[in-house]
Amino acid sequence: MSIPTGGPAESLGSPDLTGSSGSAAVSPDRPSSDPSSDPSSGLSSGAPSGPVSPGAASGSVTDRLVEANQHYAAAFHDPGMGAAPVLKVAVVACMDARLDLHKALGLELGDCHTIRNAGGVVTDDAIRSLAISQRALGTRSIVLIHHTNCGMQTITEDFRTELEREVGQRPTWSVESFTDVDQDVRQSMARVRTSPFLSHTDDVRGFVFDVHSGLLREITNK
Ligand code: ZN
Repeated sequence: MSIPTGGPAESLGSPDLTGSSGSAAVSPDRPSSDPSSDPSSGLSSGAPSGPVSPGAASGSVTDRLVEANQHYAAAFHDPGMGAAPVLKVAVVACMDARLDLHKALGLELGDCHTIRNAGGVVTDDAIRSLAISQRALGTRSIVLIHHTNCGMQTITEDFRTELEREVGQRPTWSVESFTDVDQDVRQSMARVRTSPFLSHTDDVRGFVFDVHSGLLREITNK
């Protein structure tokens, strides 16, 4: 497991990987005429000053999601599917909000498992999901997707040290930040291919998604 070290120290204020206070700073705020977003309520004391996103008011974003779900459910028809993915494929991808996996890959409901985390990194927990996906739910192929302009390229392992300094406890997990996205895809493919817990490692392919063009670029082994 190679962990990048020695990069410039980043503060915990790094924009797109922290919690609510950080994400508002870089999320492209949607134009909002929503009268329910009341900037005077619900902000935590630690929130930075600046423009208030539509989601800043307590509960308002979740309320909107729940309302959208009611419309979704009203038009929903149970396709009667089983839990096993139709295409027998599991996709491990970054959680980045600009990556719409189903649209980008032409996937339909029920087609695949999607396992997402910060960076699309093959962590022990990603392996856990992949092992269950393959052994209990019949998937055979694995697709790994990183992307351009990933937030993981803007922080370093110092993130852990900063966290420890702030909260008094050192995380047990690695940050898994990286500088070379191609190399990190190769690293991820290697972790999958060498995992003793996976029964199918012959069809493992890795890609970098370009957030500006929408195109995938395949990463080959070197
Ligand atoms: Zn990312």
